Amino acid sequence: MGEIDRSAAAAQGFAAHGAGDRERLRVVVAGGGIAALELVLALDDLASEQTDVLVLAPNSEFVYRPYAVREPFSYASAACYPIDRIVRDAGAELLSDELAWVEPDRRALHTAGGERIAYGALAIAVGAHPRPRYKHALTIDDRRLDEILHGLVQDVEEGFVHSVAFVVPPRMAWPMPIYELALMTAARAYDMNVPMTATIVTPEEAPLAIFGEGASEEVARILERAGVRMITSAYAEVIRAGEVMIDPGDRRLEVDRIVALPELYGPAVRGVPAGDHGFIRVDRYGRVPDVGPIFAAGDAVEFAVKHGGVSSQQADVAARSIAALAGAPVEMVAFQPILRGMLLTGERPRYLSARITGGHGFSSEVTDVPMWSPASKVVSRYLGPYLDGLDTEAARRR
Ligand SMILES: Cc1cc2nc3c(=O)[nH]c(=O)nc-3n(C[C@H](O)[C@H](O)[C@H](O)COP(=O)(O)OP(=O)(O)OC[C@H]3O[C@@H](n4cnc5c(N)ncnc54)[C@H](O)[C@@H]3O)c2cc1C
Repeated sequence: MGEIDRSAAAAQGFAAHGAGDRERLRVVVAGGGIAALELVLALDDLASEQTDVLVLAPNSEFVYRPYAVREPFSYASAACYPIDRIVRDAGAELLSDELAWVEPDRRALHTAGGERIAYGALAIAVGAHPRPRYKHALTIDDRRLDEILHGLVQDVEEGFVHSVAFVVPPRMAWPMPIYELALMTAARAYDMNVPMTATIVTPEEAPLAIFGEGASEEVARILERAGVRMITSAYAEVIRAGEVMIDPGDRRLEVDRIVALPELYGPAVRGVPAGDHGFIRVDRYGRVPDVGPIFAAGDAVEFAVKHGGVSSQQADVAARSIAALAGAPVEMVAFQPILRGMLLTGERPRYLSARITGGHGFSSEVTDVPMWSPASKVVSRYLGPYLDGLDTEAARRR
């Protein structure tokens, strides 16, 4: 019997269980990414006595996505961690399946594998769906970034490519990777003594504007020193290979290659009301309005910034709300996003942070040393230190 059967049996036991154990809230967490795992670890800390947690995820490994940007430059692959270990360490159970749809009135969900599972609280952290916006560009897909961009990096190294546009579509996906790819490509060309122009075309008013003025000005200086050009407040169309049309101004940029971010769409889960582009609307406490005890966190949620650190904070907010609902001695806390990010530059990384309000960063700063610990790329209260522990354990075994 494989893992799926074991997990399915565990889930059936989980669904049936409850009559004699009423005081424990049955929580189902759908997702196996940053938000879901942060939420499960937070629940273990806040309400392990008051909750039984089942994680519903199709992936057997958790891939640390942010480091995928280094893969085309022949660095090590992004780290992977077994989900079953993380879930087990958090005192939860794992069902290898997917959330298909929800019956909020009956407090039950259905999985793609045909299970019906009752819940006392449901947390949806299934991420967003990236879709390429431009047919004639290489669109970032972190599941196979090496395959998509390795050829481009090789062509830069060998002097076949002298100009690359890095394009952000009108709706920004994740803020960091396009800057990191532009900086690392420029650094590689410089190291190989190859003349090359990298240009970032973005609707942002300034580089990484979401991190606020102070950080953005420093990022602009880093880009300038690296020879990366910026075209800001720009809406791009890629009408054919090598040609970017820029609005306003009817400008045309001709380049050897074009790399683009995808656009993100929400998961549009049947039974759960969706906002714009299928993202799930939540209140300041991570609750989905008008559907009973359903919560959501991470890229699946309708929020202007899609970022692992923000996803973790949303997960912590939802976990506190669920813990309070379960009767644990904790208070709900409203979401007050702080943006933190490690920017890979091709040289030493920089650490950016800002509070965000109304889609803008303030008290923003850039430092050469991390302002958080561990110095991870995704800043999270529980997942970062937990993964750091797994890394230390693995290093000791080597
Ligand atoms: C190349 C790249 C670089 C980035 N760099 C940074 C960075 O430096 N710092 C930073 O903070 N953020 C960064 N981000 C953003 C960050 O990775 C995302 O914001 C974060 O992964 C969102 O987490 P999530 O758990 O909401 O979604 P995801 O990471 O997308 O995880 C969703 C999970 O849900 C599972 N799932 C999908 N559908 C279902 C279903 N129906 N039922 C159950 N499970 C399901 C998936 O298998 C997956 O495990 C980067 C992203 C990319 C792509």
